Amino acid sequence: MDMNASPVPKAVVVGAGPVGCLSAIALANLGWHVTVYERRSDLRAGTHHLLAPNTENNPRQRSINLTLSARGIAAVQAIDSALVERLLHNAVPLRGRMVHHLEGNTTRQQYDRGGHCLYSIERGLLNLILLKAAAVVKNIDIQFRHKVQSVDFNKNTLHLCNLVSGQELDDHFDLCIGADGSHSVIRHHLMLATQMEYSQHYLSHEYVEIRLPQGVDSSGHEAYLLDPDHLHVWPRGSFTVVAMPNKNKTFTSALFAPKSLFDTLQYPDTLIPFFKTHFPDLLSLLGEKRLVLELQSNPRSQLITTKANPYHKGAVIIIGDAAHSMVPFYGQGLNCALEDVRILSILLRKEKDGHDPSVILRVLNHYSETRHEDLVAICDLAMDSHLKMRHSVATWSYMIRAFIDNILYAISESPSLVDLSETIFGPQVPSWSWLPLYSMVSFRPDISYSAAKKKAERQERLIDSLGVAVGTLGLGYIIYSFINLNRLF
Ligand SMILES: Cc1cc2nc3c(=O)[nH]c(=O)nc-3n(C[C@H](O)[C@H](O)[C@H](O)COP(=O)(O)OP(=O)(O)OC[C@H]3O[C@@H](n4cnc5c(N)ncnc54)[C@H](O)[C@@H]3O)c2cc1C
Repeated sequence: MDMNASPVPKAVVVGAGPVGCLSAIALANLGWHVTVYERRSDLRAGTHHLLAPNTENNPRQRSINLTLSARGIAAVQAIDSALVERLLHNAVPLRGRMVHHLEGNTTRQQYDRGGHCLYSIERGLLNLILLKAAAVVKNIDIQFRHKVQSVDFNKNTLHLCNLVSGQELDDHFDLCIGADGSHSVIRHHLMLATQMEYSQHYLSHEYVEIRLPQGVDSSGHEAYLLDPDHLHVWPRGSFTVVAMPNKNKTFTSALFAPKSLFDTLQYPDTLIPFFKTHFPDLLSLLGEKRLVLELQSNPRSQLITTKANPYHKGAVIIIGDAAHSMVPFYGQGLNCALEDVRILSILLRKEKDGHDPSVILRVLNHYSETRHEDLVAICDLAMDSHLKMRHSVATWSYMIRAFIDNILYAISESPSLVDLSETIFGPQVPSWSWLPLYSMVSFRPDISYSAAKKKAERQERLIDSLGVAVGTLGLGYIIYSFINLNRLF
């Protein structure tokens, strides 16, 4: 098969995950002919026929739902606004967190004032919607069952294997986007070709999915077993369960726990008492039989953080999880990855001749240099959030801080959002405007992750000083009253 250079500028995208699909659409909109290579065998594509992900062919495919926030939505909006509607139509809005305490009571924590929500959507469904959107674009060609094996940075070629015929082939490109996930082959070859700074860290916690079935309401209709307006959290110190609703009235939850704990939970005689002690309400919803089945049949998966710098060499760049995997506790991995696509697409669009090799190199250089600080910031915030989700979220000190944060947010005026289809981020937020970190990260895509982190650190210091001032006043008042009391007697 001759797959060599064509006169039309040609981009290849490695991986047809959500990021690969959105990148392909973005590049096609900019006039590129795009070929997407995907190794998966659970999807087939004629241009108009995509089979839904089939877990029988690919049992290890994760099914856990993802939360889309304003950041991911703004990215999709900037590239294909019609897609946003399709995604949100298939998602369940979440207005806040519901914390389930050990005693059986619950507390609700609203995500943001003004009704901002996250959107819970099944991973497979989200990928399929994006795949279908890419598959119908004239200048996008999706090749499934093609595994990319290496990249030649001098010749601008990919070396691949057709997994059906076993045939090996080369394909030429003018621009290559590596969107091939956490264990990226493109990143591996970039590391061999550049002096990439790279780090990876496996969390000592793993996770297993647990699906909660539909319930039945008093009139016999299908109903959610838990409140579908909330993300549910059972924080228990070193381990936690998180559950999110699906459109079909089921919930997908996951137990996050240290590896050593999972090792002890392999058999019903330890698993059931463990749930009886720590998650009795969840156990009563699930039933013992289902719990054992879920924990024994679903795989244990690892959680990894990876950081890289730079993200490119020549005309090859990595984005999404290939460039920055993060732990899922901020719900930003995909949102951040979609933002990568938006930013890269704006940078290419700004150039008069975005297909010229020297222009591509300049754009990729600029992307690598400016994006790194934000990607490190969100990887670190996600890691900090791990402690919050398994412990702090249920503590009084967290709730008091959040209360003060929200009061200051309520009385301060927020600058309005700017349109992000042509602009990378909005103007700097004035220091008098108070914005909680969670709101900045999830609902203010006009604020970069690094700017959000810095602003939140300044605000934290202010709350600390406020706490010290109030504490000192309180102590002064107690001493003063005590002295006066002594004078009386
Ligand atoms: C438990 C969990 C919960 C999460 N929750 C959230 C959340 O709520 N919100 C959020 O924003 N993010 C969340 N994330 C993160 C999110 O899942 C990822 O950031 C996102 O899937 C990254 O997309 P991607 O397209 O970069 O990579 P992937 O989804 O991994 O896609 C990569 C694609 O490349 C293909 N591929 C790999 N190698 C090759 C090769 N050599 N040749 C050809 N194809 C190849 C793969 O088959 C795959 O289809 C969560 C992650 C986990 C683990």
